[in-house]
Amino acid sequence: MLPAFREDGRVRDLADALADVVGREHVLVDPETRAGYERDWTGRFGGPSAFVVRPGSTEEVSSVLLACAERSVPVIPQGGNTGLVGGGVPGKHDSRADRSHWPSPPAIISLSRISTLEPVDTASSQVTAGAGVTLAALQAAAASAGLAFAVDLAARDSATVGGMVATNAGGLHVMRHGAMRSQVLGLEAVLADGRVISRLDGLVKDNTGYDLSQLLVGSEGTLAVVTAARLRLVPAMHEQVVALLGFPGTEEALVALALLRRRADGLQAAELFYDDGLELVCSHAGIPRPLVHRWGAYLLVECASMNDPADGLLEALESLDLPDDATALATDAPSRARLWAYRELHSETVSSKGVPHKLDVTLPQGRLARFEAAVREVVERAAPRSTLVLFGHAGDGNLHVNVVGPDPDDESVDDAILRLVISMGGSISAEHGIGRAKSKPWRLFLNPKIPRQGPCY
Ligand SMILES: Cc1cc2nc3c(=O)[nH]c(=O)nc-3n(C[C@H](O)[C@H](O)[C@H](O)COP(=O)(O)OP(=O)(O)OC[C@H]3O[C@@H](n4cnc5c(N)ncnc54)[C@H](O)[C@@H]3O)c2cc1C
Repeated sequence: MLPAFREDGRVRDLADALADVVGREHVLVDPETRAGYERDWTGRFGGPSAFVVRPGSTEEVSSVLLACAERSVPVIPQGGNTGLVGGGVPGKHDSRADRSHWPSPPAIISLSRISTLEPVDTASSQVTAGAGVTLAALQAAAASAGLAFAVDLAARDSATVGGMVATNAGGLHVMRHGAMRSQVLGLEAVLADGRVISRLDGLVKDNTGYDLSQLLVGSEGTLAVVTAARLRLVPAMHEQVVALLGFPGTEEALVALALLRRRADGLQAAELFYDDGLELVCSHAGIPRPLVHRWGAYLLVECASMNDPADGLLEALESLDLPDDATALATDAPSRARLWAYRELHSETVSSKGVPHKLDVTLPQGRLARFEAAVREVVERAAPRSTLVLFGHAGDGNLHVNVVGPDPDDESVDDAILRLVISMGGSISAEHGIGRAKSKPWRLFLNPKIPRQGPCY
């Protein structure tokens, strides 16, 4: 049903005005062409937009924002639309006629055309990338200069620099290099009234007042639209080794991880998953199980270094005294990719089972094992016939809790899980952000009256 705003022609007038700025082919008004922009990757969030506009430069973003602000049309910036909390798409009720403070459906501003990647500055190991540059393109450019970009995640082919800055994306290598925030040296961004702020000089040290760029990292499009980023690059570590390890449970896996942190040179990833999830992945992808026997918990670790880290990892693994059939080691690139697939296919596999409730949480490292046991009980009580799949970045105390079964609009299981997280002194969003999924729980999280455990030593 079209909201009154669109019927009275104001949206049409705005779309016409923006067509003069960005070109008519970059203002999408037809419902079919808009559809892919209006629903999120999980399929859980989405709603109608006024239109989708695709500016091709910072100046065009500025004109678009000014025109929308003058007509009080809300805007939603969007990059690759791989976000997992519904922040980059309209909500189901955004265009309800009774929302007087929100009189129009939002316009989606897609940044995908702003995809200029400047040559890598090898003197400083930095690069300036447009907001619409994909992570894969950025990684390729860094590699061709003998460098690497420190953030990596499974959505690399679609996730964009702007979206990753806006969500402060984490991913697979946070334990070694930090999240997106640690890579950002400066940003160019456009404020809601069209003003442009630019901090792309790449100064490593600049203590002249507030750091506006860092303020925008993780702001999820609420403060400004990011149009470009000056990013730090790291040395490329060509020598790599990956090991998949089986353990009776989380506790044993985390004890092993603590030892590997101390002994394994170049440890940069430590990913955790469980046998029920692995079983689903293997049958979804039609691939064999990676280890001869089944284990309660699996840890996938990756070391990368200038010199071959395989011997060092093997030595560290020997001190763990694991049974032979609990370890798979991969040194060449195809075998490493095969082991990584067991972890990276989890998201896709979960989505193939239905629309997931995805909770991305962190716990103090010392409580992660207790949380894993407790969350299974909580989900069993709140959604008894659902499928629960847990996986995550063990090195960061970060678990992704996926529940398939409850209706997408039924938030009772989300609420029960997040209350558990809060009570255990964790965070309700580790790396995906607040978006729509966490906007209500966020209030819960900030409520000082909810009892929670203190620091964990
Ligand atoms: C298979 C899979 C694996 C993933 N793995 C990880 C992971 O390991 N770690 C992790 O952190 N995330 C992960 N994600 C989530 C997602 O990829 C990240 O959140 C990513 O940063 C989103 O980038 P995007 O370009 O797709 O942003 P979008 O989804 O388009 O937008 C995300 C948010 O950023 C805002 N935004 C987008 N562009 C801009 C801009 N230019 N200026 C201002 N605001 C903007 C949007 O409004 C929205 O709030 C994964 C997703 C998938 C599908």
